This record gives sequence, structure tokens and C-alpha cells, in this order.
Amino acid sequence: MFPNHSRPLVTAPAETAILALLLAESPLSRVELARRTGLSSTAVTKAARPLLDDGYLHELPPERTAPGAGRPVNPLAVTPDREFVVGVKISADTLFGAVCDLRARMRTTASRPLGDRDPAAVCALLAELVSELLDVKPEYRARTRHLGVAVSGDVDRPCGRVRYSVLPDWRDVPLADNLAAATGLTVTVENDVKAITAAEHWFGEGIGTEYFALVTIGAGIGSGIVINGELVAGAYGVAGEMGHISIDPAGPQCHCGQTGCVEAVASSGAVLAAIRRATDDPDLDFDGAVQLARGGDPAAQSAFARAGHAIGVGIATLVNLIGPERVVVTGEGLDTYDLFGMHIRDAYEAHCFKAAAKCPLTLRPLPWEEWARGAAVVGIQALFP
Ligand SMILES: [Zn+2]
Repeated sequence: MFPNHSRPLVTAPAETAILALLLAESPLSRVELARRTGLSSTAVTKAARPLLDDGYLHELPPERTAPGAGRPVNPLAVTPDREFVVGVKISADTLFGAVCDLRARMRTTASRPLGDRDPAAVCALLAELVSELLDVKPEYRARTRHLGVAVSGDVDRPCGRVRYSVLPDWRDVPLADNLAAATGLTVTVENDVKAITAAEHWFGEGIGTEYFALVTIGAGIGSGIVINGELVAGAYGVAGEMGHISIDPAGPQCHCGQTGCVEAVASSGAVLAAIRRATDDPDLDFDGAVQLARGGDPAAQSAFARAGHAIGVGIATLVNLIGPERVVVTGEGLDTYDLFGMHIRDAYEAHCFKAAAKCPLTLRPLPWEEWARGAAVVGIQALFP
């Protein structure tokens, strides 16, 4: 059994650099680690030592890169199950949880329907869910110290407070402290879109990028931004609110108080409201609206086209401002991409400034468990100082 830590997993910058790289891209040779981090090979060997001793890293059998290439090298790799992290996403009506290993692979998942949205009730239910997940295997409970929680809205990650969240309808909830008391784990709370962005940046399409963005479409429209390799929170914690870029002063009212926000035109609720008005059918549901559009109904199709245009303008605005290498588009809204994808791309290309249009849009389907994985990645990042 390895020693248990009360101290942070890594403290020195060199340890942080090699562990972060190996989490995303194990295995790597010491030579490759030195080249990628800019450290000397002596510094890499020194930084790897305590992580090897504690079982976070292991050496693979020696391999020769080519005949006559010199002495064999032992590539280094992260030991994924040395520690586990729990992630929970709080949505409007469900808690989604997952236990992930250090390389963010989901080992087990569970969910709970959310009845009472009162913070104390949600906290108690969330602690039950965490307990259920940790009971799946003895090693999960023995080797889990961190819980990452993702929730929509304005989240103060350093203070662990949810300042404003429209989906569970919360104002100023000290969620991290409450959950730490209820679970005994170290808790990090993050905005859900930023959590997914962190997961994609460390373990997905964004690996190795310095400038990267992720956009979610669906019930809400959001984005996460990475600049200089760091997820941007902004001075007030709300950087990346692409959904609240106002693109149409004569557009519909947004829940945020503005008019004509991207979200007020392009969220699934906004599209449904527009189609209900156009068809004079107040009981129409979203599936019915999608069927109308796919069946060729012009009013339904034009509501999706307006939504696609708004999303495309929003993404172009983001790309013009920060110049990412690529943008991942994700969220449950991809289910209806056939109805507005073309309009997203047309508006995106029309509104990108010059070379900014080189930035590719990558579509990434996002099952609900992935939100829990994003929350777990926030917990993995908390292992770093
Ligand atoms: Zn708004």
C-alpha cells in the first residue's frame, strides 16, 4: 500500500509539468518529457522520483527506439488507479455521478433524480450518491480524496460558492464547504461548461493547445476558454459567457435581463417558443417541433435557421477575440444539428475575421455522463497546487 497524502500531490513546478503531461499522454520517455517541458533530463529524473516512489508513476519495460540507438530507455507512465476522483454534475432534475481514474476514464457511474432543489436537500442527496459510488469497490473508497462538482451559472471556484445558478435556482450557496462536511472529501466546485472545457483541454481534443475554446449548445448556450494553456475564469469568474452576447437588439428577452442574447434566440427553449408562436400551438413540445422542422414546415425550419445563425455569429465573435487553434462544439443540441448545422457554419464563416476562419469547428457528442466526467477532471486538477 502506498502512503496517503495530506499534502498536495505535486509541489515543485517540474513535478507539476511532467505529471500533467503524463496524465494526458502516457507513456512518454524521459527524453520526450525533457523536450516537451523544456526541463533538463536530470530535472525530469529528479521530478519523477517522488512520483515513482509514491506509485503515481511507473516505468514500462525498456524499449529500443531503433537498432543501435544506444542504451534502452524505460518510458514513464501514470498509474491510473493510484487514486480515484469522484465527479458529480448537478442538472435541473438529476444528479449525474462518476468515479474516474487519474487519466479521467470513467470507472463507474450512477445518477439520482432530483426532487427538492433546496441546497440542503441537494447536498444530502449528493452525499448519498457519492457514498453509493465509493461503495462499488473497496479501492474507490480507500483511494479517493477529491470530489469535483459541476453546476451551471456563476460559480466562484476559489471560494467554492455558487453565486447564481438558474437551473437549480440558487443564490449564493457555499456548496464546497457544505459538501466537504457531508462527504469528508476535498471539494472543488466549478461552472459546468468550464468543467467540460477542462476535460476536453486535458484529456480530449484540446490536448497540447495553448488557445482553445469549447461551446455547448442545447438548453443553454455556453463556452469555456483556454488562453496560454490555462482555463480562463476572468476577474469576476464569468469569462466565456458567449450565450449572453447580444446579437439582436430587437430580439427576444433573455432570462439574464438583456434582449437578443445568443441564448435567447438559440437555446432549445427559445427555438421551441418561436415555433409555438409561429404555429399558434402552445402545447407543442420540443420533439414535436423537431418533427415539424424535419418534415419541412417552413416556420419550424426558419426558427432553427435563426438559432444556427445566432450560434455561428456567437462562435465567430469568440474566435475573433481569442484566436483559438480549434473550437469544440458540444451539448445535447447536437441531436438537432441536421436542422441548423449548415446555418452555424455559414454564419461562422461569414463573421470570422480573415485568418480567424482557419480555426476548425469540431463536433463532439456529449452524453450526460460526460458532464460528470468533466466534474471529476476538476477534482483531478485540484491535485495540483
Ligand atoms: Zn442573456
